[in-house]
Amino acid sequence: MFERLECSDRAVLVHVNFRHHSDQADLQEFSELTLAAGIIPVSTLTSVRDKPDPKYYIGKGKLEELVQEVSLHQANFIIFNHELTPSQERNVERFAKCRVMSRTGLILEIFAKRARTFEGKLQVELAQLEHMSTRLVRIWTHLERQKGGIGVRGGPGETQLEVDRRLIRERIQIIEKRLEKVKIQRQQSRHARQRAEVITIALVGYTNAGKSTLFNALTGAEVWVANQLFATLDPTLRSIDIQGLGKVVLADTVGFIKQLPHTLVDAFRATLEETTQASLLLHVVDASDEKYEDHIHEVNQVLAEIGAQDIPQLLVFNKADLLDNGVYHPGQKELDKDGKITKIWVSALKGIGLDLLKDALQGRLSINRVQGALQLGPEQGQLRSQLYALHAVIDDTPLPEGGWNLVINITNNHWEKLCQQHTGLAQALMAKVK
Ligand code: GDP
Ligand code: MG
Repeated sequence: MFERLECSDRAVLVHVNFRHHSDQADLQEFSELTLAAGIIPVSTLTSVRDKPDPKYYIGKGKLEELVQEVSLHQANFIIFNHELTPSQERNVERFAKCRVMSRTGLILEIFAKRARTFEGKLQVELAQLEHMSTRLVRIWTHLERQKGGIGVRGGPGETQLEVDRRLIRERIQIIEKRLEKVKIQRQQSRHARQRAEVITIALVGYTNAGKSTLFNALTGAEVWVANQLFATLDPTLRSIDIQGLGKVVLADTVGFIKQLPHTLVDAFRATLEETTQASLLLHVVDASDEKYEDHIHEVNQVLAEIGAQDIPQLLVFNKADLLDNGVYHPGQKELDKDGKITKIWVSALKGIGLDLLKDALQGRLSINRVQGALQLGPEQGQLRSQLYALHAVIDDTPLPEGGWNLVINITNNHWEKLCQQHTGLAQALMAKVK
């Protein structure tokens, strides 16, 4: 239903600095976003204004310049680093005879390219449809020019615009129903994990910080890593073994960017749900980026928006291999006054500092758990199954005379419940460790 962009797409980028706005342009990010959508930025125009021009967003002079740039570079897109009203988009499009895209449209295009799971794809389509429905007039004229259109004319008297509106509404409803189903399925599997109290750790962080690289380094999995924004859209779940804790689930998540349009935060909230349920957030930071402090702030703001602001964080300063200031290096850590590791410097790419990171994870997560050796008789198979269901078994050796020697690691809550069900169990646990 949506035209995909061709690789040969070329765009002139437009950014307006507003005089009374302290937040300066991040043109680097803008051109990276463009590249991530598969579009080559051929030229960037900036201007300074007090407020947007009501008709064209930019002034008439800039507009003329824009037209020249478009024809000089044979661009087929003009991309604004802003939200234009539908009529501003249409006016510029008509004036420059070139397709116009807003920042939201650009991000949606990237999402569409990157969505990999069924749910991710549905969410992108929904967001695109919603974005489209507000701009339907333009799309309609655009489609009419192509003598096609997305719909077949309905009953007599129904205009093409009405048909398009109806079709979009119907499509939105279908997608919403499907999404609802997928969401229920995902919640069920998450509830199963919660029942078992499997610990979930979510990787969060600004886009390009190295989350997927770290995810791969820790899990040995092949998740798509690319020097592109939004290389992953859906959380990818893998389990890893942490010494003394057993299996924990690690979730890779979509990159956070600043000014993620609000409508998109809503549309993608579901893909971030894993994050809100995590026991610990690994907040991955590109330590080599001079704007890293801003990025930490942006990420924390999005976390607050999705209600994850109170989940404990471990700050992971990645790309420490690129630091040459002599102060920080991979493998370094910072503790708080209780001796808890709060910051750690690693290189996910070179695999440096990862053992320390796993130790830090163990330290941060082993609170409220008991660990020890447990000998079970042949008649205690049911207890053994219970322990397995709770993912509490770290080691299991069958005994020649029947029964098992187990090493278990379990939450205090679960242990107490089991001890109530099985008399003598509390005394049977040997060599309790922390
Ligand atoms: P994500 O968007 O946070 O998932 O980031 P990625 O894992 O896709 O990594 C983005 C880019 O940073 C890729 O080009 C990686 O190779 C690079 N990268 C990741 N970790 C490191 C690191 O420790 N050192 C260096 N030098 N580059 C890294
Ligand atoms: Mg990634």
